[in-house]
Amino acid sequence: MGRVRAKAPLGRLAFGLGDHDPFRRIDPHGRRKDGDRLRGRLAARREAVASGRGLAVAGERAGDRIAFVILPGVTAQRHRRRAREAREDQQAGEVGGTTEAAEHRGRPGIFVANVQPLLLMPRLLLLLFVFAALAVPSRAQDADPVVLVIHGGAGTILKANMTDEREAAIRASLEAALRAGHARLAEGASALDAVEATLHLLEDDPQFNAGRGGVFASDGTVRHDASVMDGATGMAGASSNTLHVRHPISLARKVMEESPHVLLTAEGAEEFALLHGLEMVPNTYFHTASRRAALDRVQQREREAMPETGAAGVPMPEDWQMRGTVGAVALDAAGHLAAGTSTGGMTNKKWGRVGDSPIIGAGTYATDATCGVSATGHGEFFIRLAIAHDIAARVAYLGESCAEAAEHVIGTTLTEAGGTGGVIVLDTEGTASMPFNTEGMYRGTITRSGVVTTGLYGE
Ligand code: ASP
Repeated sequence: MGRVRAKAPLGRLAFGLGDHDPFRRIDPHGRRKDGDRLRGRLAARREAVASGRGLAVAGERAGDRIAFVILPGVTAQRHRRRAREAREDQQAGEVGGTTEAAEHRGRPGIFVANVQPLLLMPRLLLLLFVFAALAVPSRAQDADPVVLVIHGGAGTILKANMTDEREAAIRASLEAALRAGHARLAEGASALDAVEATLHLLEDDPQFNAGRGGVFASDGTVRHDASVMDGATGMAGASSNTLHVRHPISLARKVMEESPHVLLTAEGAEEFALLHGLEMVPNTYFHTASRRAALDRVQQREREAMPETGAAGVPMPEDWQMRGTVGAVALDAAGHLAAGTSTGGMTNKKWGRVGDSPIIGAGTYATDATCGVSATGHGEFFIRLAIAHDIAARVAYLGESCAEAAEHVIGTTLTEAGGTGGVIVLDTEGTASMPFNTEGMYRGTITRSGVVTTGLYGE
């Protein structure tokens, strides 16, 4: 997946029984996209059917496609509507018996049974569910799934501006981070552990705008933002504007696991970090000459642009594109996703500016129900557009794949709003995508068997 440009909306790719039907699980290619999610729901619905609250189920093979519809413990209202529709269909002569299709409506292979006898056979129904769920091939079964995807920031990354040495160093850092996370996953560690281990390496690496090597704020300090989200539990943690925490991603995780809150900021976040024994370092530990030079350049331009007005109406610094924010999304052996993002933010930021990186739903999002996302780019746009959550929401609401949703949100939503940046996305089947609308984005993936791929430019 490479660079995406603005393009027409992809449109609704999934279809089902109609807008009112919540059980649409079939795409036009006859390929089920979300086996794990569906299997989870099947368990709940199995219970509903077994307890008699469920209404009916039907499964049918049509060519290479299995289509089935499950009516679970529905509300009384929906129950009545279904019964009425079935009656109407019967009256219209479409249905001859209790197990025949009550609703074709031009969608081949989809059957709804409104069947009393079936309710007497919950075990049979269960077998049918399981067969239907397992019989549809999943991509994870026939491929070497991606288990970890990372980014190291998006921006004006052009081959023409890059020396061979620098490119090799960045690729080596990306690969080392991927291998560190992969090693954790191979030991059976959680996706969260893998995200944290991966980002530790990138936070320690001065080439990236996170941890050591973070960009400078206007007051000459380096201030970090970070967040993490656990796709299995939906829990999240974040910190912003910290000055002394060596690994902000670990602070974010502590906030998630050891506090009742989601986002802690500045002094309070540091107090919490101390309380929980996180490694603290002087702010100068994070300083690098190149980031300092970037601040000097931006502040010089700022003075030239508005010698009179000073801070008021400051233009966005061009060097926000110093890029290097880091992020990771992992998929563990138990099928759980986690995502994390860590950054120094934007060069010359002031007034306690907080970007998207520590904002759950903007810079980071993960749920096993859809996908894990970590973003990088012009944070204000990512916050306003709730980019990371929007990707997950398109998957949930429109039935798009994570890759389709990510391409739309970056290629259309973000681009049309005038924002720049990119995302890394991973689903529970191990399908990664990494769309961006900038010249380049540092990025990489590693598969379960350990195959590493890295990319820098819009190739
Ligand atoms: N998104 C980050 C921010 O706005 C910066 C980046 O990703 O380059 O703070």
